[in-house]
Amino acid sequence: MPGTLYVVATPIGNLADLTPRAREVLAGVALIAAEDTRHTRQLLQSCGIDTALTSLHEHNETQKSTELVARLARGESIALVSDAGTPLVSDPGFDLVAAARSQGIAVIAIPGACAAIAALSIAGLPTARFVFEGFLPAKSGARSERLEQLVREERTLIFYEAPHRLVEVLRDMVRIFGAERRASISRELTKRFETTYSGTLAQLSEAAERDSDMTRGEIVIIVSGAPATTEALAIDSDKLLRVLREELPPSQAAKIAARLTGRKRSELYKVPGEK
Ligand code: SAM
Repeated sequence: MPGTLYVVATPIGNLADLTPRAREVLAGVALIAAEDTRHTRQLLQSCGIDTALTSLHEHNETQKSTELVARLARGESIALVSDAGTPLVSDPGFDLVAAARSQGIAVIAIPGACAAIAALSIAGLPTARFVFEGFLPAKSGARSERLEQLVREERTLIFYEAPHRLVEVLRDMVRIFGAERRASISRELTKRFETTYSGTLAQLSEAAERDSDMTRGEIVIIVSGAPATTEALAIDSDKLLRVLREELPPSQAAKIAARLTGRKRSELYKVPGEK
């Protein structure tokens, strides 16, 4: 019988957020694949768990996944963890999960903390439909381009960001999304200095320039989606009338053209340019 791959969420700050089920799995598997074994060893020590660890990070993930899938196939169960929160969410693990699935190995989620969802749940912005964008490109040109692609996105947007880039990212967002868009910034979630700031992008941008506390620690930015577009279909009434007149008698063509364009029917009997 092959083993099971458990994808285990760990705390994003507060150690009490490690679930009892996560502890049980971490204590019971043959091996834990961790992004940083030193970091995870500290977490395990705090719970009295001494399961063997191996490293799986962005630079060895592909080759390591093959090795781990072979062990799973031989019957060993493995837990995958990242440094904080849910693995695969802006963290390593995708190659391993995809490889295990392609080999028919059972993959089980042990859910828990995720900074994106924690920040969204307290932002006070619409949650019915949202998009996780992860980290924006670090370079200014590429970042502006990505934000421009998102300008008409109607769903709530979630970004991870490095604190030292917050001021410039907010300036870009004000310029591209507009000063009045509502947003929320959560920093140091579940930790001692946890703070959530909300307001318009302009207000948050000004606050970040003034208040150096805002640019310390780990940060999630939530931005309200663009207002739903209600732009009427732009219709060239002359062109429409010409097309309708090819198919219909003048009175019927004028009636339909009037309904679609809002112009008077009497103006639409004659096709422009016709004698
Ligand atoms: N896998 C993690 C998760 O489930 O949230 C995210 C890992 S990603 C490498 C790290 C980023 O997550 C940070 O730069 C920050 O944007 C966000 N983050 C992680 N912990 C956080 C916290 N306690 N408060 C606010 N943001 C946090």
